[in-house]
Amino acid sequence: MLRTDYCGELGVGDVGREVVVSGWVDRRREHGDHLAFIDLRDRSGVVQCVVDERHDLRSEYVVRICGKVRPRPEGTVNPNLLTGEIEVGDCTVEVLSTAEPLPFPLHARTEVDENVRLRYRYVDLRTERLQHNLELRAKVNSAIRKAMEAQRFTEIETPMLVASTPEGARDFVVPARLHPGHFYALPQSPQIFKQLCMVGGIDRYYQIARCLRDEDLRADRQFEFMQLDVEASFVGQDEIMVFISEAVGAAVAAVTGTVPPEPIYMSWTEAMERYGSDKPDVRFGLELVELTGLFADTTAKVFQVECVKGINYTGGSKSLGRNAIDELTRKCQQWGAKGLAWFRVGDDGALEGALTKFMSVQEQAALGLAMDAKPGDLLLLIADSRRKARAILGLLRLELGRPPINEGGLNFVWVTDFPLFEAIDDQGHPVAAHHPFTMPHLDDVALLDGAAEELLAVRSQAYDLVLNGWELGSGSVRIHRMDIQRAVFRALGISDEEAEQRFGFLLDAFRYGAPPHAGFAFGIDRLVAILAGEENIREVIAFPKTQSGADPLSNSPTVISDRHLDELGLRIKFADSARRLEL
Ligand code: ASP
Repeated sequence: MLRTDYCGELGVGDVGREVVVSGWVDRRREHGDHLAFIDLRDRSGVVQCVVDERHDLRSEYVVRICGKVRPRPEGTVNPNLLTGEIEVGDCTVEVLSTAEPLPFPLHARTEVDENVRLRYRYVDLRTERLQHNLELRAKVNSAIRKAMEAQRFTEIETPMLVASTPEGARDFVVPARLHPGHFYALPQSPQIFKQLCMVGGIDRYYQIARCLRDEDLRADRQFEFMQLDVEASFVGQDEIMVFISEAVGAAVAAVTGTVPPEPIYMSWTEAMERYGSDKPDVRFGLELVELTGLFADTTAKVFQVECVKGINYTGGSKSLGRNAIDELTRKCQQWGAKGLAWFRVGDDGALEGALTKFMSVQEQAALGLAMDAKPGDLLLLIADSRRKARAILGLLRLELGRPPINEGGLNFVWVTDFPLFEAIDDQGHPVAAHHPFTMPHLDDVALLDGAAEELLAVRSQAYDLVLNGWELGSGSVRIHRMDIQRAVFRALGISDEEAEQRFGFLLDAFRYGAPPHAGFAFGIDRLVAILAGEENIREVIAFPKTQSGADPLSNSPTVISDRHLDELGLRIKFADSARRLEL
């Protein structure tokens, strides 16, 4: 037998038992009299085994040890170890596999270059941190599945080789050998298929789906990521928010043992006005204060603009010197501001700052009052278009106050009533904020044939779930009526032919009886990262890609042979040397 027990689970209750444990030699210490202490490690932890020196056991050898559990001698108990009260003695040892010295020491992984860790990911996976994170991830997946099943959702797998999907990122494509010159796209999401499921009477669909988007990578983004993908018929936004809150709540409870606090609900406009972001981090204050009205009759040129808003950085006058404020100003300029207006609040409560000389006494007093200014505070103002003022202060707020990811508890916020279009592009067409199947607010449908300004005012039935300032996911009520769908396509500048070519099969399906339906998807990697207290999602993915999208372990992406290219009917435009260099 290779094992009777896991190393980390042995305790005083096992004293006197003959056990067999197998695992990796974590550490080895010599101990006089031809004995050595071996810390044997498996997924559950480590246990100390006392073995005869004659065995040449090196770090990371894989061994099987038979022995008897006994209490540790007086004075050698290790309270930091779960198995610290016992050890395995009278050991017989069998080496199952030897190991070369590791490319990096497990106990100092954080000091090792990430490329090296990814090149030897199987070594990295042995660390307690990754073992813990992956266990946690499995718990999250399992809890989500249970919660969705309990809510009568059916798990359905949608295909990986598909036609281009409408999420708006760049597709990964796969050449189709049997159809030279044609390509499959890998799914950016199962969006169209899940809507087809609704037409197909599936009623409630879910999938823990792999999605692929060819976008620049960041700490919170990988080319491939996992989403809880959901769609349901005969329901609207409120029901979807409940379904998802249930699933997320169950995932949190499975990991932390407690159900998270009820989510907060906030309209997009409120989020933008108070937090300057559509993913408000409500763990801390520093809310944006509306000041436009206060400057209605101002003679100060800087404040004669569409919008003035500010943040009271409590106590900031004491903690931030002139250089620090200049640095903040530079940051605001990088984010697109003309400048940052600032005032220190003096000991007598009066405002001090270069701009006071352009402001009336009443204006200064009103500003202090509106911002609840106390001696020692620092008032930071942006005067610009409303759009810019909100966005810049939103970034400034995070810069000043954002706590580390694992502080401040779990704060879920549902942001609702997103605008249907987020901007107008160079050709004068609006850009969909979500995807083109998102239902507008029925009160705003008439605006769809209006001018650009009117279009930007159209609200949609789209909603996001935000956790501690991270966008976890988005969803919407879908358009199931062709007249509205046509109006949205028209507004987006998508011609009938293009709509037909890109989404024809979905539109076709809608001709045969489409139920009203709505859905959502959220990123599991991000949720797990937050629950694990990790800033970087690569720490919660077994085999992630580097920042440049490469996998140093399996050496992908890689060139393929000329024969393979021929088979696919492809020719590479670069010279051979360039192809090799790409490696
Ligand atoms: N397909 C959308 C996305 O991946 C989510 C949804 O609307 O259900 O962002």
